[in-house]
Order: sequence, then C-alpha cells, then structure tokens
Amino acid sequence: MPKKSKEVLDRRDFMIASIATVGASAAIAVSTGGASAQEEAAPAAGSQGTVYTGDVIQGKKVISALDVGDLEPGRHNLYFQGVQTVTGQHWYVSVIVVKGAKPGKRVVLTSGVHGDEISPIHMIQTVVDQLDPAQMSGSVVAAVDISGPALEAMARRWPNSGRGIDLVDMNRQWPGHEHGPNAASRHAWLVFNRLLKPNADYAIDYHTSTTGMDMTAFHLARLDLPEVRAMAELFPIDQIFDNPAYPGLLSNAFIDAGIPAFTPEIGAPRKLDLAMIPLFVEGTMNVLKHHGIITGPMGRTGKDSEIFVGNSATGVLATHGGFVELLVKLNDKVEAGQKVAIQRNAFGEVVAEYTAPKAGEIAALRTDATSEPGNGLVSILYDNTPPVGGDTYTE
Ligand SMILES: [Zn+2]
Repeated sequence: MPKKSKEVLDRRDFMIASIATVGASAAIAVSTGGASAQEEAAPAAGSQGTVYTGDVIQGKKVISALDVGDLEPGRHNLYFQGVQTVTGQHWYVSVIVVKGAKPGKRVVLTSGVHGDEISPIHMIQTVVDQLDPAQMSGSVVAAVDISGPALEAMARRWPNSGRGIDLVDMNRQWPGHEHGPNAASRHAWLVFNRLLKPNADYAIDYHTSTTGMDMTAFHLARLDLPEVRAMAELFPIDQIFDNPAYPGLLSNAFIDAGIPAFTPEIGAPRKLDLAMIPLFVEGTMNVLKHHGIITGPMGRTGKDSEIFVGNSATGVLATHGGFVELLVKLNDKVEAGQKVAIQRNAFGEVVAEYTAPKAGEIAALRTDATSEPGNGLVSILYDNTPPVGGDTYTE
C-alpha cells in the first residue's frame, strides 16, 4: 500500500477510535460540520414526555420518545423512531404498551437485539396478550424488534455501512452513544434513553443462543443482586449462569442505570421453540405478580424445575476443521475428562477427540455438523472461585 494512503487510513482509524472512546461531540463537529437534523429535532431524554412525530405507519402512531405516564390506561401499539437508514428513512421499533388502570411498578420487556432470535418475540407477544389493563397496577412496555436490519436478514448482527459493509453486535453497544461511530450505537442510544430507561423500574432482555448453537432454557443473571435474583428464580427453567459477563450488554446497561435486569435465553435461534416459550411466559407472569402489576397465584418457579446454577462457563473449541459428532446432550452432567465430541475429516478418519475441561452441566451445543478450527462446540456451566468464562457466553 502506498505510504500516503496508509497515513490517511491510519488517521481515519484514529479519528474513529477517538470518537468511540473520548471526545465524541468535538470529533463529529470537525468531521461533519455539526449535528444532524435528527439529533437537533430530538428531545432530551425523559424530560419532555411522550413525543409524537405526527407520522402514522400502518395505522400505528410514531413516537420519538415515550413516557408511559402520559398515556391513557389500556393497550397502545406504537412505532418508535430509531436511527435513520441510508435513504433517510428510519428503523422503527415496534412498541407495545400495556398500562394498568391503577399506578404501580413498570416493567420493560425487550427482544430482537439480535436479529436471529425469534422465540423471544413470540414469548413477549404471548405475555402482553394475556394482560388485562383494567385489572393491572403499573405498566408493561415491550420493544420486540430492536435491531431491525438484523431481523430483516435473520442475522445476529446489524449490517452497518460505515467503512464498507460491517457487522455490529448490538448487544455489545449498550447504552449506546448519541454521537457514536456507527448507526447501531446511535440506535442503541435512542432506544435506551428515549424508550426503555425512562419507563423501567425493572427490565428483562430476552435472547436465544446464536446461529449454529442450541441452548438450554437458561438465564444470564447476576444473582449477587437481590432484586435480580428474586426475579430470575421465578422461572421454571433449566440453568442460570450467575455472571456479569461483560460491558455493553443491554441488561448491564440497565443495571448501571440502577434498574435490576437480566438476560433469559429461550433455546435455539431462528425458530419458534413452542415447547420452551411457555416456561418463559410462566416466569414472566410470575415476575409481574411479584411486582404487584397483576394478581393471581404464582405459577411454577425455579424451585419446581430445580435450576442448576453455575457462576462460570467454559467452551470446548474445535482444534481442526471437519465434521463434528457430539456425544452429549443439553443439560447432561459431565465429568472432567469425559469425551464430549469427535471430529472426522472427509475420509472419515478421526482428526480430533474433545473432552470436557471441567465437571458441570452442558449449557450449549453446536448444531452445525461442520466446524472450522476455533468454533465453539460445547459450553459447560460450572462453579469456580472466582467466577470465570463470561466471555464464552453465546447469548
Ligand atoms: Zn442474543
């Protein structure tokens, strides 16, 4: 590469790094000559109540900010105006508000942060359809399709056109940045500050495993936080990974804002798991009862399903390319050293045998029967002091 163009690239890299980490407003002002019209038009977060843009899409009113306190009791189906697309339109988030006749706690339910995770959307639709606002105290705000362009592509990550096509994992972006260096970061900022945070006393961000992996009925939840523990244990599911994982998760952005939150995982991506979804509906309804938003007897909880809790996770990564045969199933208990998978080349010769590095329970398994070196094959949940393995988490 000629020296001059390399210097240009380096400078651009430096600028983008600066925007991301240090002086966002100043750097953007230099590079674009000022804030965009979208930024100027938008209100300050949480200070001006619900803002209707005046647009109506498919019969649904469009909002650019939500304060559930402004709305009449009842159910409201709205579109939230997110970041702009390259043609100057917007990515919209479908928002369902169910506001009770009486005041009370406010719970936010989210899905679609990753675009290949469909069971959570169906789960939230099922929950809100069971709610009767006349009998409720408080509110439920659901945002079901947060990463629109990822959902359009049945893909985990947001396709971003900054320096040529790029894929951005939205669940590493929260709480986003108003002047961030990509559209996903700005979309996250709008959604978090104008839609979710102002309306949340508690929040649950539903996911599934990622494409190529299957997973148990599972939570990522910080059980050291009593209000998180109280909610997480109300689900009749298989496993809890008691670990903060890493910054950038939506649930951690809520926690950093003082809002107890956690991340359920409803099995496999790309499909509706109609056997597993009801477990999470039951748990979510239990949470709404726990907070006094709805009344009625508690359903089954984690006590009934005898949840396995581990504070650590370890992945078995493929060392070779080839065809994988798994020797374990989800939820199996394994011993350290137990053989969990074998791999063959195209001649049928065994090129690798994989063993469990720790004793624990199987939390996730590769579903694609081929693998390159470095792909995760098996994830094992276990206990360790101190907790480790948050970065192996496949939400
Ligand atoms: Zn996810």
